[in-house]
Amino acid sequence: MAKIFCVANQKGGVGKTTTTVNLAAGLAKVGQRVLMVDLDPQGNATMGSGVDKRAMQLSVYDVLLESASVNEAAVFSEKCGYHVLGANRELAGAEVELVEVERRERRLKQALAAVADQFDFVLIDCPPSLSMLTLNGLCSAHGVIVPMQCEYFALEGLTDLVNTIKQVHANLNKDLQIIGLLRVMFDPRITLQQQVSDQLKAHFADKVFDTVIPRNVRLAEAPSYGLPGVVFDPSARGSQAFVAFAEEMVQRIKRM
Ligand code: ADP
Ligand code: MG
Repeated sequence: MAKIFCVANQKGGVGKTTTTVNLAAGLAKVGQRVLMVDLDPQGNATMGSGVDKRAMQLSVYDVLLESASVNEAAVFSEKCGYHVLGANRELAGAEVELVEVERRERRLKQALAAVADQFDFVLIDCPPSLSMLTLNGLCSAHGVIVPMQCEYFALEGLTDLVNTIKQVHANLNKDLQIIGLLRVMFDPRITLQQQVSDQLKAHFADKVFDTVIPRNVRLAEAPSYGLPGVVFDPSARGSQAFVAFAEEMVQRIKRM
């Protein structure tokens, strides 16, 4: 049975998409069957997995509106080694179109249930908001992976997300928990980052992943080639860190 994880943080530009596609590629590399779901109308995770969001026949939008199944809408990315349920701008309309629908926050959960035995991991890239789309992600998931930069306001931003996760846990999804905080774009030479990292560990203890993702230009270059860094340049420090993170996640789900 697939373990389903949301990569979420209501802030933009914190590394959600980079984490989703590189973790997906890292997991594929260590032999896991992975489905990557793009829930952001920007479609960056789709493009960053080698799937052209403009040429897609079916997307996660069709799945949310129940006009296609996951198996019909997902495509296998040969280069990346994982399945992609893509998104494009059409998805922005789903929010409005689902307004009148009952149990609208459970559409993705229902759709994913049908493919649970085909994958080991489902990774959901969430948009930078706490919208109906993110809610669909959180309702589907066993856990949340929160990428964060070790900056001054990082802890403050976390409070809203933690409260939302608590509410979803209480009202909609008893399985949901924060699996962990992933320190990304980390530069150990910056004293402040080191301090915030120490604070995170003091506050959240074992909810902070052991793996740290360094700031690495190869990870930032990879999307323009339509690839995760792990595939684009496997020897880059950032790519190696994501493969290590994939291994940490494989160990982590054994305890779930
Ligand atoms: P989000 O999905 O949260 O908006 P992205 O994953 O798109 O964030 O990352 C924001 C920007 O930071 C992108 O340009 C991305 O290439 C870059 N980036 C992400 N992680 C790293 C990293 N570890 N090192 C260098 N650049 C990174
Ligand atoms: Mg993104």
